[in-house]
Amino acid sequence: MPTKRNTRPNETQPDRLWHDRLRYFEERLETLVETIREFVQIESPSDNKLAGDRMGTLLAGRFETLGGRARVHRAEEFADHLQIDFPGRERTKPVLLLGHFDTVYPMGTLANMPCHIAGGRLHGPGVLDMKSGIALMLSAVEALQAWHSGLPRPVTVLLVSDEEVGSGSSRKITEALARESAAVLVLEPAAGTQGAVKTARKGVGDYTLTVHGVAAHAGLDPGKGHSAILELAQQINAVSKFSDLKKGISVNAGVIRGGTRTNVIAAEATAEIDVRIKNAKQAAMLDRKFRSLKPFDKHCKLSIEGGVNRLPMERNTGVIALYKKAQSIAKQIDWKLEEAAVGGGSDGNFTAGIGIPTLDGMGGVGQGAHAVHEHISISDLPRRALLLAGMIESA
Ligand SMILES: [Zn+2]
Repeated sequence: MPTKRNTRPNETQPDRLWHDRLRYFEERLETLVETIREFVQIESPSDNKLAGDRMGTLLAGRFETLGGRARVHRAEEFADHLQIDFPGRERTKPVLLLGHFDTVYPMGTLANMPCHIAGGRLHGPGVLDMKSGIALMLSAVEALQAWHSGLPRPVTVLLVSDEEVGSGSSRKITEALARESAAVLVLEPAAGTQGAVKTARKGVGDYTLTVHGVAAHAGLDPGKGHSAILELAQQINAVSKFSDLKKGISVNAGVIRGGTRTNVIAAEATAEIDVRIKNAKQAAMLDRKFRSLKPFDKHCKLSIEGGVNRLPMERNTGVIALYKKAQSIAKQIDWKLEEAAVGGGSDGNFTAGIGIPTLDGMGGVGQGAHAVHEHISISDLPRRALLLAGMIESA
């Protein structure tokens, strides 16, 4: 009699395993949606410590129920940042699940923007950015514990309270925990309605270019004036040539001001310029270019302020390797997972910036982050949870 073959599905029928796992999340979808609703209904604007701490305390309790050990990093101006550590069976480095529980919506927003379901979508302030992402963390950890009778590897969760206002008080904690981790998975919203993960984010900066000219009466003394406006026009033309779209550099003079009256040759004119870059080297290169601008009219003076304030999250080999893993997990359930490069920044810029493999956009799928129509697609949630669980196992 032939011995019964070992039918552990991950060895013989990988597709079947992943489809079973997907069904696991589908069967628990209602609970997941309830959890997200609960989180959305606790308002937690970045600038309200009391409200944020209420949210943080509730979250700590939820993660502790799953066996995590919660600790807080005190913050004075913002809610305390929350760290939860889960032990794992293998003694590998943890995966860092990164997110934030602050939102851009002031207290009272729920009155006009209630949390509700319509047409398969869950609406509400912060539902996409990124309370659904936090609920996905809970789901994935719970599932892995059920599948493996305990987490296969250690997991660290960091939920900060000041991401929407620049992460000034949490950045150091984020970077320190990232350094101890094998990889960072950022639960910010996915890109687009197809749910692409984010493998690159541009760096962002701004410059202010001011021209000081020489005023004169436009009718009586036209030869004595040196127009700041004319000079600025030429400078704008010059800086716009710093753009190199093929290399991912864009330079945009988005605001100009100058002059006082039509009959006066302008003494002063200013341009505010947004810059986007694709890699760190470009920041220094652009800065050199801005600082070495010379006036076309020698009687005009230039002053330059500003610089790049958030370095890019680059699509380096570590990021690509994580994306490939994510893609192969998605493929198991016949899902073609796309990647996207986006113009804005997140805390993923920090962790990628110090060289830790980072995959961003692992959270909910939806539209309207920071807007009145913010929502997530409910039917996308099971496969997002599946992807996260799979990435915690293999990242
Ligand atoms: Zn966010």
